[in-house]
Amino acid sequence: MNFKRAVIKVGSALISPDGKGCSSKYVLAIAQFITACHQQNKEIILVSSGSVAAGRQLIHHGSPELAIQTKQAMAAVGQMQMMANWQRFFDVPCSQLLITHSDLKDRQCYNNIKNTLRILLDNKIIPIVNENDTVAIDELKVGDNDNLAALVALVSEADSLFILSDVDGVFTKDPRSNTDAKLIKQITEINDDIYAMAGATKNHIATGGMKTKIEAADKATENGIATYIINGTNSHVFEQLLQQRNPGTHFVAKQDYAKAKKHWLKHTLRSNGELLLDAGAVNAVINNGASLLPSGISALNGNFVAGDSVNLLDNNTKKIIAKGICQYNANDLQRIKGCNSEKIYPLLGYCTSQVIVHRNDLVIL
Ligand code: GLU
Repeated sequence: MNFKRAVIKVGSALISPDGKGCSSKYVLAIAQFITACHQQNKEIILVSSGSVAAGRQLIHHGSPELAIQTKQAMAAVGQMQMMANWQRFFDVPCSQLLITHSDLKDRQCYNNIKNTLRILLDNKIIPIVNENDTVAIDELKVGDNDNLAALVALVSEADSLFILSDVDGVFTKDPRSNTDAKLIKQITEINDDIYAMAGATKNHIATGGMKTKIEAADKATENGIATYIINGTNSHVFEQLLQQRNPGTHFVAKQDYAKAKKHWLKHTLRSNGELLLDAGAVNAVINNGASLLPSGISALNGNFVAGDSVNLLDNNTKKIIAKGICQYNANDLQRIKGCNSEKIYPLLGYCTSQVIVHRNDLVIL
């Protein structure tokens, strides 16, 4: 279970174990684990719940049933407390990304989130993601951070997803009432039986319980991301993870991540345009594993937006050589094609990326 880039989802039960503001009780061991990962050159993205729990005592509320607006206000104030709590445990800077489901569904926003994460990781800054609870109404919501974490694993191109909560994993029966309940170490197929077993495994503070964790595992493994449900209240689990041992329930990825991504680029994404490449760019893309720069583009067709998939053609033979995600829209690309990357900013007044199609977003056909 070696991993290079992982998303770690931390549940509210670990951020605020007694439901009264942030605590260092479990966060310290998690932060130490992340620091150890960094020392091994692994990249970590945190998806942290707990803003509502962290802000709970700071907003007047009457009944235990909280109104949505009350929760949103708690999230707004609690998010600050939670971020400050995380930052205490790291020497490297933390960064905050608040996103909603509609952001992830919009291709341009998706691309922006992806680019931001890439730059943060390149600069050794820890991205900490949460749902933007203040603006998220039901239709915009992912709703629970387990599913959000799976989407973040996809957008950040992580190979692994660790869902930390206060249960050891998925059990054959409810372990609190059945002494013969067994922890399932490995799950290769998520079917109705697994969902039924998940129903038996409850924890107390989390929004989604075990069901949303299985849903998240389903989404992630489908896309080649190995997923683990782990008990973050037990600090020994982190030693095991560092020794590449699975301390909880491991959901096996359906296919290799690189293959899954290539398949997605090749078969799932419809191309909305064509970029015609000069001989130098064709050679660089095919033989040197390079990203596509504006200087290598001779012409383009189609009316695509940034984040759309485009075909890359050899301008000589007019044959499709590759397919990839374009960082600029067609109008702007018309203005910068054939130029050096340093000209992007002066010509457009902005520069989202020095490359037009990043190597990681490209598949040779
Ligand atoms: N976004 C919510 C919070 O920060 C948590 C949602 C969840 O735990 O699934 O409180």
